[in-house]
Amino acid sequence: MTNITVLAGGIGGARFTRGLLQQLAATEPDATVTVIVNTGDDMWLDGLRICPDLDTVMYTLGGGINEEQGWGRPGESRRASAEIAAYGRGWTWFTLGDLDLATHIVRSDLLRSGSTLSEATSFLCRRWQPGAQLLPMSDTPVETHARLAMDADEHRAGELIHFEEWWVRYRAGVPVTEFVQVGLDSAVPAPGVVDAILTANLVILPPSNPVVSVGTILAVPGIRDALRSTAAAVVGVSPIIAGAAVRGMADACLNTIGVQTSAEAVGLHYGSRAANGVLDAWLVDETDVGALPALAAAGIRSVAVPLWMRDADTTRRLAADTLALARGIFTDA
Ligand code: GDP
Ligand code: CA
Repeated sequence: MTNITVLAGGIGGARFTRGLLQQLAATEPDATVTVIVNTGDDMWLDGLRICPDLDTVMYTLGGGINEEQGWGRPGESRRASAEIAAYGRGWTWFTLGDLDLATHIVRSDLLRSGSTLSEATSFLCRRWQPGAQLLPMSDTPVETHARLAMDADEHRAGELIHFEEWWVRYRAGVPVTEFVQVGLDSAVPAPGVVDAILTANLVILPPSNPVVSVGTILAVPGIRDALRSTAAAVVGVSPIIAGAAVRGMADACLNTIGVQTSAEAVGLHYGSRAANGVLDAWLVDETDVGALPALAAAGIRSVAVPLWMRDADTTRRLAADTLALARGIFTDA
């Protein structure tokens, strides 16, 4: 039986995993999928615990996502957040839909009554039935912050602001000098996370943000080591196509850590497992075929295939190509 573990951020990880589940349902209905989800974007807002990536994955796999936005629920209204704004509370640039608020209220209630984030997530998933087990990377809060390189509104250069403020309010347009994961030092992987990596026969890094999604998951003490020591093949899919982040602003994150926005540079940044990195194999887009020799030289087996997840069919084909590449290398994947 195939056990697959995916390390996901929000939209890229969620869409890839949805295609993977569709492909497996048709070809290997016994396969199980565990998704370890980034919680570095989580925050408290208006007294509620918001988990952007967990919710994007849960809604996407559970059929409750707003497809155009890639996050939140379809058919939303914003009556509650307008009322909160009328009190002068909350972050006006971070809108919470009324339906989405219900998720945050239930989660926050569970957390306040003593549930862990893992327990709260599994409770929410009872309703959404995502078809995969969703595990937060950690049950203890780890929150990504960005250090501003210049003044912005009420913030001063050198100040740390929450990643979501940099991403949503400033559209990643204000230069930052570094990302700091507050709480990382004392964080441990959530129950089941290390096991899911060690007992998988295939681990996939989907096309999620390599810095603030996958990078944050890998930074939780113990997770990178698990990836380095698992007997499973570790296969990644480039989130960069032809030198550009397909959706979102991953290039701004890569610039900050000094990695070029290219499929080759991101593959080399993850590195080969044979050389202290985390990848056995890497999928780049067909337009990035020129990256293959450098990746091969670095010990990363790579192929060039279409990486645009335009619709259900192209996404499922990408999942099939990922499985095929893994099986071409490791017969037990
Ligand atoms: P976020 O947490 O919502 O920002 O989502 P993720 O971290 O999962 O993924 C965001 C990344 O997904 C973006 O940086 C894009 O580069 C990548 N991405 C989005 N759509 C596609 C796609 O269709 N194909 C590929 N290869 N990458 C994509
Ligand atoms: Ca995210």
